[in-house]
Amino acid sequence: ASKEETFTYQAEVDRLMDMIVNSLYSNREVFLRELISNASDALDKVRFVGLTDAKALEGREQLEILIKADKEANTITIEDAGIGMTREQLLSNLGTIARSGTRKFMEAVKEAKGDANLIGQFGVGFYSAFLVADRVTVYTKSHEEAQQWVWESNVGSHQYTIKEDDSGDNMVRGTRVVLHLKEDAQELADPIRLAKLIKQYSQFIQFPIKLYSSRKEAKQVVDEAATAKRQEEADKIAKDKEEEPIKVEPVMKTDYEDVWDWRVENDNKPLWTRSPKEVAEADYNDFFKQTFGEFLDPIAHVHFNVEGTIEFTSMLFIPGMAPFEQQNWAAKSRSIKLYVRRVFISDEFDEDLMPRYLSFVKGIVDSSDLPLNVSREILQESRIVRVIRKQLIRRSLEMIDGLANKEGGEDYKTFWESFGRNIKVGVIEDTENRERLAKLLRFHSSKNETDMVGLQEYVGRMEEGQKAIYFMAADSVEVARAAPFVEKLVAEGTEVLYLTEAIDEAVVTNLAKFGDHDLVDVTKEGLDVGEDAGKKLEEANKQLAGLLVFLKESLSDRVEKVTLTSRLLDSPCALVTSKFGWSANMERIMKAQSM
Ligand code: ADP
Ligand code: MG
Repeated sequence: ASKEETFTYQAEVDRLMDMIVNSLYSNREVFLRELISNASDALDKVRFVGLTDAKALEGREQLEILIKADKEANTITIEDAGIGMTREQLLSNLGTIARSGTRKFMEAVKEAKGDANLIGQFGVGFYSAFLVADRVTVYTKSHEEAQQWVWESNVGSHQYTIKEDDSGDNMVRGTRVVLHLKEDAQELADPIRLAKLIKQYSQFIQFPIKLYSSRKEAKQVVDEAATAKRQEEADKIAKDKEEEPIKVEPVMKTDYEDVWDWRVENDNKPLWTRSPKEVAEADYNDFFKQTFGEFLDPIAHVHFNVEGTIEFTSMLFIPGMAPFEQQNWAAKSRSIKLYVRRVFISDEFDEDLMPRYLSFVKGIVDSSDLPLNVSREILQESRIVRVIRKQLIRRSLEMIDGLANKEGGEDYKTFWESFGRNIKVGVIEDTENRERLAKLLRFHSSKNETDMVGLQEYVGRMEEGQKAIYFMAADSVEVARAAPFVEKLVAEGTEVLYLTEAIDEAVVTNLAKFGDHDLVDVTKEGLDVGEDAGKKLEEANKQLAGLLVFLKESLSDRVEKVTLTSRLLDSPCALVTSKFGWSANMERIMKAQSM
């Protein structure tokens, strides 16, 4: 017999388990979605390996997920014919590495008021098994290793064990997760309940999910419906004849044969292969949530086929909120899943398929023109990928335009709060689409108390004779409003945009112009306001020349020069920066960043 070894969970994983077990109490049934999603990932992986190494699939060709409930034993078993795990993989995947920040997860848990649904966003789905199980046993067999391994852990024990499985029950290849249900979760060991959960959470998994269930119950349901229908007809006849209703003989037999069998519960035909006309809104929403582990509906989606010399199908979605794991530009976003002729290839090619500023757009691309063994190197050289990328950008921007032009503006507000920063990065980085992206920008403004304003709207309501678009960058709207630089402009009815994010100045500097209108910083020298300013200034300069010299001498090195201005109304003076230097706001930001 083989030796059993005991390991202690890595501290992060241990804390994570505590959180899951003690703080998530609603929607516990998402454990099934998470384990099915792992099974599906494992099947994707083995199918991919099988493309170049047919041996990997040998002995177990059916790529499927098997689910079985045992009421007597109080267990649920989820088995897949996927890639399996070697001992080493088992050790590092289950117990050692917590993929996401535990701290972020804890914050999110608080925010979500214990809703287990959010687990899908954190890449820690496996541990959701402990939402419903007090003991979890994982049997796994990789095609790379002769042995089958058993991993086991009890909730709250802070430990897990690994040993070789010498029971003789070899799976050939794959993983079987056995959940020993907690007392208060035992009602889940029920095929009818599980069938519902599969429909609800895993309908769009691309592999058949087979549930072991009894046909008796299904036949009973059919017969009951037939009986009810007969009764309805009899009642109608009785009513027409104005007679007393009679009770019909039930269709039901009493001796149903109890036939248990594996039955496919999900619709495993890829949703994108259907015609967009035939797909209901709710299907798109469910597909999005199930595929990307999201828990809000998307705020926009698009489904399209490109035909011609290069052919592909794609579905793209804009999520209903920004990820908890706030944009870590360095991290891979895994938001575009690439398929070649319906075979999942990878979700790590985002950078080649989408510019990083659009990394929040999630979706799938299925191409029939790329080779199945496509690699990053092939992708980067490929003309096909350039065409796909261009289309994905175009369609994404159309989707965002659609939101911006939507009646009411609520959706765009949601969008802007979550992804406005991405659009700003886009203005800086995507020179080809800069004009288009500029129309999507929104800023605070002197003319609006709360709503933000776009540049088109600004231009549309410019004062007569106004040529430039004025902006003031500051820490906050309050600071901007109180600044001496804006008082005269605002008093005269000229709109000033208030730029309050660190990135904003880089955006307007890169943009420089919107249409024919220069973007002008009101804190820079030489701002020309008012028509007859020139003449008056000339007069004043003569009269106050002595004062200017005196002030410059007194302030000495602290200022470059002292000049008169017509730009102020109530304030006696303002500190401005030179035309070509950094604005005071930018200096402040640079200082803060270098600390
Ligand atoms: P994620 O799926 O986001 O990576 P999980 O916590 O769900 O995070 O799973 C952790 C890891 O454990 C997976 O990345 C995978 O390597 C491994 N794993 C989990 N379930 C299976 C399975 N059924 N077959 C093979 N590997 C699995
Ligand atoms: Mg997972």
